[in-house]
Order: sequence, then C-alpha cells, then structure tokens
Amino acid sequence: MSIQVQEINKQFGSFTALNNVSLDFPTGELVALLGPSGCGKTTLLRVIAGLETADSGRVILEGEDASDTHVRERQVGFVFQHYALFRHMSVFENVAFGLRVKPRKERPNEAEINKRVHRLLELVQLDWLADRYPAQLSGGQRQRIALARALAVEPRVLLLDEPFGALDAKVRKELRRWLRRLHDELHVTSIFVTHDQEEALEVADRVVLMNKGRVEQVGTPQEVYEHPATPFVYGFLGAVNLFHGRVEGEHVKVGEATLPHDGRDADHGVEVVGFARPHELDIVTDLAETRGVEAVVSRVLAFGASARIELDALEGAAERGEPVHYEVVLTRERVAELALSEGQHVRLVPSSLRVFPR
Ligand code: ATP
Repeated sequence: MSIQVQEINKQFGSFTALNNVSLDFPTGELVALLGPSGCGKTTLLRVIAGLETADSGRVILEGEDASDTHVRERQVGFVFQHYALFRHMSVFENVAFGLRVKPRKERPNEAEINKRVHRLLELVQLDWLADRYPAQLSGGQRQRIALARALAVEPRVLLLDEPFGALDAKVRKELRRWLRRLHDELHVTSIFVTHDQEEALEVADRVVLMNKGRVEQVGTPQEVYEHPATPFVYGFLGAVNLFHGRVEGEHVKVGEATLPHDGRDADHGVEVVGFARPHELDIVTDLAETRGVEAVVSRVLAFGASARIELDALEGAAERGEPVHYEVVLTRERVAELALSEGQHVRLVPSSLRVFPR
C-alpha cells in the first residue's frame, strides 16, 4: 500500500512536533525515519497509524483520504521498541492473537490459524520456540516474535518504532540484516523509526531525515550520504570536519590556506562553512604546502586496515572563539609513510570541501 502524508502539522501545547510535513511512501519500500531525539519521528508514525490526530494535513492510504479512518481500519502492523508480547501466552499464542480476535466472519478456523502461525514462525526462523513463553526468550528473539505477530494479520503497512533500540549492538546489527531480508521476501510497505544513522543507511531503501519537526531531506542512503542537502544532514550522517572561510573562485580561503571546494553554493566572496568527512582528508608533513590547513596531531589510533588521527586546529578556527578538532582516517600504509607523532605540526588537505553559505 502506498502512503502519502500531506502538510501535516501537530502541536503539543505551544511545542511544534510536526511542522508542515509532506512525504510520499511508495508501495513496497522500506523507509527509515531518521533524526535526533525529539524531532517528531514517533509522532509522525503515530499520525500515519491513526493513533494520533494531526492538527491539520491529510494521510492518504492507497490513494484514499484516510485522515479520519480509525486505526483498526487502516490495516497497519506495529512493532515497538519494548516488545509488547503477552507474558502469559506461549510464542504460538502470541502470534495467533491477532487472528483469534478478528471479527467472527473474518476469523480463520483452528487448522488455518495453526498453519499460518507456523508459516510466520518459519519466516522469522523461530518455529522451534513455538511452545516457549516470552520470559524464556532473548531480547532479539522477542522482537522477531513481535514482528511475526504484527505480520499475522497481513497488514498493508508495517510500522516499526525503534524496533531494535533496546538490544545490544551485536544483536541489533544481526536483526537489521535480517529485517532487510524479510522485507525483500514480503515487500510490505514498511516505515521504521531510528536515531541510528548506520542502521538507517544500511537497511532502508530510502531515508527521511527529520530535524525539529521538519523534513530536511529524502533520498536513498547513497544520495543523503554523498549529497547532503543541508549542514544538519551532513553533520548527522557521520563525523565531519568543519572549515570556516571565504570563497575565492575555485577555492576557499581558510586562514593562509586555499582549499578546493565542490563548486556548489559558492559565489565569490561569500563566507562559507566547508565540510569534509574524515576519509576525505589527507595529511602532509610539509608545512610550506598551502593547499592545507595547519594543525597539530593530538592522537594516532591505529586499528585494522585504517588509522584514525585526531588533530587540533591552529588556524582558520580562532574566529569561532572555541577550540576546533579534526578527525582524519588514513590507511595504515599512509600513516606508516608519514611517521606521525603526537604534537607534530602538519597540514590537512581536503580532496574537496562541500560548502554551505554561513
Ligand atoms: P525519540 O527518538 O526520542 O523517540 P522522536 O523523534 O520520536 O524522539 P517524538 O516522540 O515524535 O520524537 O516527539 C516529538 C516531540 O513532541 C518531543 O519533544 C516530545 O516531548 C513531544 N511530545 C510527543 N508526544 C507528546 C505528548 N503526548 N504531549 C506532549 N508532548 C509530546
């Protein structure tokens, strides 16, 4: 089922939780709502589900205005962060629950329920736990059961609110791969809320970035990561290095240094903030090299195939009146070649800065 939300506004007292949000969720996509705590992700999910009423705007399901449709008629399945399994029911009964409470004329018979529940348990690869009780399951298993239970009623939309938020990092990682595979099999239009950028980028077909009740950008993981539309998106999706300077033609003048930029939003003379990711910077030890900004090495952390170097700024940073730190990721070979030591003065050379007007 396709979902459109159009110009949704939602206030809680004087606080604006959703500010004119319009989005399009095509049928069969897995979309991540990503943003910092309090940006309105859960509120948007609840408006789509019909658990919350917007102050204005419309929710269109499969082309029809469903803004006033009751949650039960929207045919959505939910999975929340804190597994809401019934403690006194076995895994089998938990998954069967949604089928047993259907109105009599829609309710499958016992043989059909049995067949459907086992099929779902196989789908989440936990059929062997059918007779156990929630207390006898791990957190990750409970979330998979919660998902099987949500799918039992064959929802047209699946809404997941931080489904793996309460689990440890390793289980989380496993479960998000597993969710992706499950989605590839079922193709149910799914929206999941997360504040974890890695989770969103790894799992979703498309990512909606939210900030302070507004949509900042919508795009594929690659689009939002490589072409962030706003400084907020850039900063939220990974570590960044900031350079404050002024555009001079093809370059940004930062202190004494001239750094190349990507050419966008960069009129001559404009004051800009230039962004570069840690892997988009190189380090040179020749201090006469003006393609780079001078900095002092504060730490070298080598692990695996790459090394992370932390540095403190010396120039181009003073005007902000606060210490500026940089982070660079280089290959182990490059670091060995440079033979960096803590306290050493070097220059940072970005391959290209993504600039935003200040
Ligand atoms: P988190 O990741 O922390 O869950 P979120 O992006 O999902 O954050 P929401 O839960 O949508 O954010 O909340 C958005 C804002 O609206 C928050 O500041 C929250 O305190 C506020 N809010 C949400 N529900 C209510 C409510 N029922 N009454 C008052 N304020 C609310």
